[in-house]
Amino acid sequence: KQGSEVLLEQRNGLSSPGMAFTLEERLQLGIHGLLPPCFLSQDVQVLRVMKSYETKSSDLDKYIILMTLQDRNEKLFYRVLTSDIERFMPIVYTPTVGLACQQYGLAFRRPRGLFITIHDKGHIATMLNSWPEEDIKVCLISFYGAEKNLGPLQDLGCNNDLYGPSYSCTRPFFLIPVLLPWGMDNSSQVYTSLPVLWRFVSTSNYPLNYRYGMNCLIQFEDFANANAFRLLNKYRNRYCTFNDDIQGTASVAVAGIFAALRITKNKLSDHKFVFQGAGEAAMGIAQLIVMAMAKEGISRADAISKIWMVDSKGLIVKGRSHLNHEKEMFAQDHPEMRTLEEVVQRVKPTAIIGVAAIAGAFTEKILKDMAAFNDRPIVFALSNPTSKAECTAEQCYHLTEGRGIFASGSPFPKVTLASGQTFFPGQGNNAYVFPGVALGVIVCGVRHISDDIFLTTAESIAEEVTEEHLAEGRLYPPLSTIREVSFKIAVKIVDYAYKNNLASWYPEPEDKEAFVRALIYSTNYESFAIDNYRWPQAAMHIQ
Ligand code: NAP
Repeated sequence: KQGSEVLLEQRNGLSSPGMAFTLEERLQLGIHGLLPPCFLSQDVQVLRVMKSYETKSSDLDKYIILMTLQDRNEKLFYRVLTSDIERFMPIVYTPTVGLACQQYGLAFRRPRGLFITIHDKGHIATMLNSWPEEDIKVCLISFYGAEKNLGPLQDLGCNNDLYGPSYSCTRPFFLIPVLLPWGMDNSSQVYTSLPVLWRFVSTSNYPLNYRYGMNCLIQFEDFANANAFRLLNKYRNRYCTFNDDIQGTASVAVAGIFAALRITKNKLSDHKFVFQGAGEAAMGIAQLIVMAMAKEGISRADAISKIWMVDSKGLIVKGRSHLNHEKEMFAQDHPEMRTLEEVVQRVKPTAIIGVAAIAGAFTEKILKDMAAFNDRPIVFALSNPTSKAECTAEQCYHLTEGRGIFASGSPFPKVTLASGQTFFPGQGNNAYVFPGVALGVIVCGVRHISDDIFLTTAESIAEEVTEEHLAEGRLYPPLSTIREVSFKIAVKIVDYAYKNNLASWYPEPEDKEAFVRALIYSTNYESFAIDNYRWPQAAMHIQ
């Protein structure tokens, strides 16, 4: 393979601007003649990509076009993505990326990430040396196809696509999908291997931090329930780390609740929550709600008394069997109850939050009850994908006569009621959270990521919701503003980190906005021309 593509890649890595190279750059780089003899601006390149994108009718083909572009010209890829985030997000992220996982063989163009198997235990430092980039700020550790439904997501680089537009410190991204050798599905074989795997992951952080420094942010993604809590509790105060499924979800859900409070016009501690599900997402959200209520001034015990949880065995109550440490914390002093309908009838919550992936769990009766108990009931159907949602946006708005305050995990189209009122359901997407958190954490070198940071993030996201958004039923700022949202989150985190002695970067920047802004990823091409200048003639005189 001797073509211009390879030569340009070799010389310029993934940032090759292709036809946007100037004549001067082509001459200086020794590639003149290897590109067609004309010059295109990035704007024209975007138009060309869009033309070819529009010829594709299937979402998977669109996904492949974008991924191929990312391999060929990374800056152009992010420029295209950020030109219309609402349009491209469903292609590079949920739901198309899920399809790409299922059809991995078809979508595959080039491996992305570092693949470590259980057989590499003890040799991870060697493997990290294979990674070509030195300046790594974030490492995402995930399982390859095992722990959760969409395990290979990270391998496909979906988070890479979302991180990039939101921030950068020279391609900060580094990815480690951990490949299980026993199987690629959710088979029992995989689960029996987990104790071994866990020990393996436990030891893998050392070479990682040894190579990239203690401030390298380690994000855990798609770890199943028990491992997720175990790893988070073990590492949260030892490394710079967070778990997106627990803490990222919590932050985005609480952001939606904060926005909802502006509609219900009361305090968080005036509310009573019933959760359908008591797993990673539910526990993360519930714990952050408790923190937020405590910040309002009520005791932790009072806050916990306002949170009721239902798992696969019914209401979580004191003395019930099958309670892990996290569930114990939210066990209520109450007789057992089996169904969510019974619990809603008994507790009369102001908010119900669905995170159990049980489709249709918010039945007609539950939604009507919520509307009867509350002037403005909060209904969050957060389970993904759309087919697992507890109720649709339409069901919520219809059955609550337009009074329901609704958010979902997967996107739902707008709903118009017979009254003519139109609602735009909010999508509680973690993508509002992790890019901004990571940006804030890495720019000032936060050592450990406390839950306060996720509460600060939730407040920051909710502040971006305007009164107009709320009037239309939106609890989140539009996705098109996600870069600005991430920027504001990062500035708040930097501010918080310095105030609380968590930042390790010094001196403390005076203008934190400018400090963060300077590190935001730019899709503009960098100049490849060498720094060419002259001294005064007399000084250059050859003696
Ligand atoms: P998880 O850790 O596996 O937890 C699932 C929970 O659901 C468990 O507590 C389980 O009970 C409970 N459950 C299962 N069947 C039930 C039933 N019939 N009735 C009541 N509870 C039942 O999973 P997770 O990570 O929390 O994710 C759960 C859902 O939330 C998924 O659909 C995921 O897509 C969604 N989610 C959404 C977002 C978002 O919108 N941003 C983020 C994260 C997760 P046991 O404990 O008894 O097994």
